[in-house]
Amino acid sequence: MSNDVLILAERVDDRIALVSSELCGIGKKLANEKGGSLVALLLGGPGTNDLAKGLISLGADKVLSAEADILTGYNNSAYVKVVDSAVNEVDPAIFLVGCTSVGRDIAPRIAFRHGASYANDCIELSLEDGMLCAVRPVYAGNAISHVRSKGTSINMASIRLKAFPLTDVEEGRAGEQVQIDVSIEAGELKMNFIESRQVESEGVRLEDAEYVVSGGRGLGGPEPFQQLAELGKLLKAAVGASRAAVDAGWVPTHMQVGQTGKIVSPMLYIAVGISGAMQHMVGAGPSKNIVAINTDAEAPIFQRARYGIVGDYKKVIPALTKKFKDLLEN
Ligand SMILES: Cc1cc2nc3c(=O)[nH]c(=O)nc-3n(C[C@H](O)[C@H](O)[C@H](O)COP(=O)(O)OP(=O)(O)OC[C@H]3O[C@@H](n4cnc5c(N)ncnc54)[C@H](O)[C@@H]3O)c2cc1C
Repeated sequence: MSNDVLILAERVDDRIALVSSELCGIGKKLANEKGGSLVALLLGGPGTNDLAKGLISLGADKVLSAEADILTGYNNSAYVKVVDSAVNEVDPAIFLVGCTSVGRDIAPRIAFRHGASYANDCIELSLEDGMLCAVRPVYAGNAISHVRSKGTSINMASIRLKAFPLTDVEEGRAGEQVQIDVSIEAGELKMNFIESRQVESEGVRLEDAEYVVSGGRGLGGPEPFQQLAELGKLLKAAVGASRAAVDAGWVPTHMQVGQTGKIVSPMLYIAVGISGAMQHMVGAGPSKNIVAINTDAEAPIFQRARYGIVGDYKKVIPALTKKFKDLLEN
């Protein structure tokens, strides 16, 4: 086994996804401590080889790029095959992925194949006696678990989005690029990628938002989401929702925050008429500051909120919107 750290970078459309920068930052730190190199792997359709070069300026000493039509959309049999052969080739001490839909799907498959230890959704990573130590929130962030790999195989982890800083870009940095030959017969694939559909949405993306205003069952129907949208527009915030509001058909699924929705980590999360169920807090918990507006002073959300307003949203939201408007306009 080498002392190298391998990261699985990702692309979004025609750019390298931000998580790749976060992975490069922590990957480089661990590689330096291990005395190895940082190797970055990028898979995708046309344009991937060109995009992959950018990973060198993010700190990768070596970049492996796999470009093929078959890798355009995420097809787990094709991706796992390529990632697995890259892991065999690099034989890294540590392999990191993002806790994204791709990373979460690939990592356990690779860990199983290599008998590797795997810590999911980590917010801190360090080395102790050469072994990977991880800090990960569990039970919707109500407890923090510290784990240490004891494996002799690869130490693997996925990192929570936005938990690690972006790395500095160093233009003109030297590094090696190797283009991987992708030879996958259609018959080898257990499933075919059909299409991906982009959801049309206005304003800031929930995952990237610095401010989020979310509504729950307490709003009583779809109309009040318009009020949240007004407040959101004022704060340049994205609007989210609890699953109860989504299941009721008040708002579309892509707005759902939580275990089966999106994980957000804004600076400010305003939860309106949301009780704070564990499954919701899995998605909202990483927020730096939570403000809860709820009629029930005993609602669990208040235990996680920095500021709480016990009151009816019908009174609180218009008053809050007016106050923000006054403050922002003057
Ligand atoms: C496997 C699984 C996965 C799940 N995944 C998710 C997920 O991804 N995301 C998610 O959100 N949930 C998820 N859930 C559902 C979760 O358990 C809760 O049922 C859900 O989060 C509750 O949504 P809520 O807080 O909007 O509704 P409720 O729990 O009904 O809370 C409504 C709140 O509104 C308050 N309220 C009522 N009227 C007003 C008013 N006028 N003004 C202010 N406050 C008011 C009430 O006091 C109450 O606290 C999942 C559940 C399971 C089993």
